[in-house]
Amino acid sequence: MKILVCGAGGFIGTHLVSKLKQQGHYVIGADLKYPEYSASDADEFHIIDLRDQLKVSQILTPDIDYVYQLAADMGGAGFIFTGDNDADIMHNSATINLNILDAMQKNGIKNVLYTSSACIYPERNQIDPDNPNCEESSAYPADPDSEYGWEKLFSERLYLSYSRNYGINVRIARLHNVFGPLGSWNNGREKAPAALCRKVLESSGVVEVWGPGIQTRSFMYIDECIEGILRLANSAITTPLNIGSARMITINDLTQLIATIANKNIEILNIEGPRGVMGRRSENTLIRQLLDWEPEDNLEYGIEKTCSWIKAQLP
Ligand code: NAD
Repeated sequence: MKILVCGAGGFIGTHLVSKLKQQGHYVIGADLKYPEYSASDADEFHIIDLRDQLKVSQILTPDIDYVYQLAADMGGAGFIFTGDNDADIMHNSATINLNILDAMQKNGIKNVLYTSSACIYPERNQIDPDNPNCEESSAYPADPDSEYGWEKLFSERLYLSYSRNYGINVRIARLHNVFGPLGSWNNGREKAPAALCRKVLESSGVVEVWGPGIQTRSFMYIDECIEGILRLANSAITTPLNIGSARMITINDLTQLIATIANKNIEILNIEGPRGVMGRRSENTLIRQLLDWEPEDNLEYGIEKTCSWIKAQLP
């Protein structure tokens, strides 16, 4: 197949391009930038601003069989929960999705997978760290805790509208916290696992952790994420689907786990900081039912890989 990966210069996009190449596809990458930490395996890589409608219509040529739409203005808690980037997040990501669907419809491209996020789920169901509810059906009435989540929800609806009105085959992955090598780790957009690996590796004793530390999350290693995205793309599932790990861990326990794996003695200092909801975990009943599969729990293996990759990046 001839496949276009939008966001091919990002963390998940870089890994997805490599996997699609291994499977023998012709892969075109598109992004504002090349991957920061490795070369891209794409056959063609276009540096393009996907907010530019004309350029998007030129790159989405009618011979493309499948589009993976991962491009988004995004980052970890330090980027999406401060409020400082809300206008850009909403404007940039919504414009990208509007442009891509418009070009797909006009150029007769029929298949797309869109990466949505666990951040679409209502805050009210994620207050108790021990019992979050992120069932797919719990998304409405909507009340995400960030503008990033609202944009993702709007775009989910946009993709579903194009499916309904223009017959575009749409798959929507609600990804839950993905981590692994080649992801942001020190540029202000890093997410908790990479940020904590860096802090632990750099620490000489005390590691600062944002929030009370009892907030929970589930973390999926990148290989499982790619496997889940490809399984969803090849399925007949037309409604949004969680792809995430079901294993929940507190942020303080994750920090301790990283310290153990990195062989460091640390003391955790919980400080004020952007933290998001108090509890979140991928609810995997639907993915098990529909795909007869769910991401494996390989947190320790993934942290080991991520930590040693970040260690190699340190000056
Ligand atoms: P990332 O930031 O590494 O990759 C996103 C890419 O989009 C970046 O390379 C960026 O340059 C590109 N991009 C942004 N604006 C662009 C523009 N105007 N034109 C062209 N390219 C542009 O993020 P990621 O972790 O690889 O995430 C990929 C997708 O998965 C995103 O849509 C994200 O919202 C979603 N997601 C990720 C996670 C996670 O834990 N990483 C969780 C849930 C959802």
